[in-house]
Amino acid sequence: MSAQPAHHRILLKLSGEALMGDDAFGINRATIVRMVQEIAEVTQLGVEVAVVIGGGNIFRGVAGGAEGMDRATADYMGMLATVMNALALADTMNKQGLTARVMSAIGIQEVVEPYVRPKALQYLEEGKVVVFAAGTGNPFFTTDTAAALRGAEIGADLVLKATKVDGVYSADPKKDPNATRYTSLTFDEAMVKNLGIMDATAFALCRDQKLPIRVFSIFKPGAFKRVVLGEDEGTLVYA
Ligand code: UDP
Repeated sequence: MSAQPAHHRILLKLSGEALMGDDAFGINRATIVRMVQEIAEVTQLGVEVAVVIGGGNIFRGVAGGAEGMDRATADYMGMLATVMNALALADTMNKQGLTARVMSAIGIQEVVEPYVRPKALQYLEEGKVVVFAAGTGNPFFTTDTAAALRGAEIGADLVLKATKVDGVYSADPKKDPNATRYTSLTFDEAMVKNLGIMDATAFALCRDQKLPIRVFSIFKPGAFKRVVLGEDEGTLVYA
């Protein structure tokens, strides 16, 4: 018998940097294709997948603000960067046999459809991958918070935070050979240890909604699928 997924509907948070590969900026073709292959393996298990994509590979509002730009304006630029990534991601998905829909939190109807919750739920039920663009639609927030928000809205049973490191460690594994990976910990433990799993707003939202987060490495081949199958991969943060 083939393995059964441990989750029905998941929200994957991909940072913009996950699309960058070894490049210093933008979208690396081979990398985005690999990301989509990882996602396709999970959809083949019958799991409903929604993605919140970041924009840090193109622009971050905080950087614009630090250089003297009006912060809200810079944040809108950041949100537009996530729309570009979402378009690239959905295009790659559609080319690889998935059916993807981009939904934006800010109105740019000529380019992508607006986020409408019932529509998003319908797409997921139809087996389409929904890519949420433009974060929450508000400046001063992050796409981590958008992941928590959309995850809660669509009734995801898990938020997956894709990072470069394969979980949460007791210390920086690159600097400390004694660093150990936590297999799981509660929201309270993560807070006490100040582990910085997601930004504070995102973390608080998941905690309040009892929406578990799993931190894992999207660069480790097959890790995403193993998470969805409920195998010991990354770190689970739960209520
Ligand atoms: N952003 C925003 N509101 C949101 C989500 C994102 O203003 O709800 C802006 C913000 O400027 C942020 C940028 O979009 O720096 C890119 O998002 P993020 O930094 O979360 O991307 P990631 O680090 O995941 O690539």
